[in-house]
Amino acid sequence: MCDQPRSNDLLNWYDQNARVLPWRIAPALSKRGQRADPYQVWLSEIMLQQTTVAAVKPYFLKFTSRWPDVGALAAAQDADVMAAWAGLGYYARARNLLKCARAVADEHNGVFPQELSALLKLPGVGPYTAAAISAIAFQKVATVVDGNVERVMARLYAVQTPLPDAKPELNQKAAALTPPVRPGDYAQAVMDLGATVCTPKSPSCALCPWRTNCRAFSQGSAAELPKKRPKPQKPTRYGIVYYVERADGAVLLERRPDRGLLGGMLGWPGSAWDDAPKDAPPVRAKWTTLPQKVRHTFTHFHLELTIKTAQLAQSEPVQHGTFIDRHAFRPTELPTVMRKVFDLANMPELG
Ligand code: SF4
Repeated sequence: MCDQPRSNDLLNWYDQNARVLPWRIAPALSKRGQRADPYQVWLSEIMLQQTTVAAVKPYFLKFTSRWPDVGALAAAQDADVMAAWAGLGYYARARNLLKCARAVADEHNGVFPQELSALLKLPGVGPYTAAAISAIAFQKVATVVDGNVERVMARLYAVQTPLPDAKPELNQKAAALTPPVRPGDYAQAVMDLGATVCTPKSPSCALCPWRTNCRAFSQGSAAELPKKRPKPQKPTRYGIVYYVERADGAVLLERRPDRGLLGGMLGWPGSAWDDAPKDAPPVRAKWTTLPQKVRHTFTHFHLELTIKTAQLAQSEPVQHGTFIDRHAFRPTELPTVMRKVFDLANMPELG
């Protein structure tokens, strides 16, 4: 039988092995009482949802240099924030980011609340983000459970129930291990252990401070845990997008409705995405269908887009969308799927 893992063993490991991240206070400074900026903790945690640290870093640096505090972000234009978020995906996060910044500015005098109950009332802040802010920025005893932490707990206790059914049990085990001292460092330490040592495919158990306490390690079953319920297959949906360029270089774009997938983002006019999309060009023109298709995968479905292009000699009345001057249009402000359309429509051999 393995002994109960000790939080102190993990904290000692963290003191030597903490990842250096732009939103993080190093453990040596944290032990001297330096605290992370709640704005930066919140921003980084929202960006990190479903997204890797490597992808988040440049966005985090861009946001914090342009909007250095929550008041600055609250005062930003929606379109600027959506453009700055372009490429990071899961665009509802960007819309909630603005709502949350404005709620903190308007209802909390620009200061993030410390308690879980108040944090949970903020737009886009769920139990994970609330616990992260409370523990990391304010040193409150709160348990932060992400995919990394679930994996570590499932292995430490050799939990055989598949995810997501195992979540309550894993949460409860993570909470029981959370110490009253250095809760912020501890939260980051478990996440780091999962991200760098207790990795999904081949955990480096030899480097793990909890090796002697780990049931999966002693049973030789670490790589098989956590068990997961098989995911249903994703369906494929189809759509048509229209890439129109005017003789002066202006391109026809439209802002997508606030609600729904890619809500509030710029994109090319197009059909609905379903089994049999209807061809409804936004303007009268001679259309060319590109031989290549754009393929993109969202959380719940694959998408295959047919691209139709047209050149207009002069302005024509458009059904929907707005022509944007070439010098005012930045492809980097498009979400990834729309950027793929732009790249394909502008491939030299197709021009
Ligand atoms: Fe993960 Fe191995 Fe450490 Fe167990 S011993 S927690 S499986 S890295």
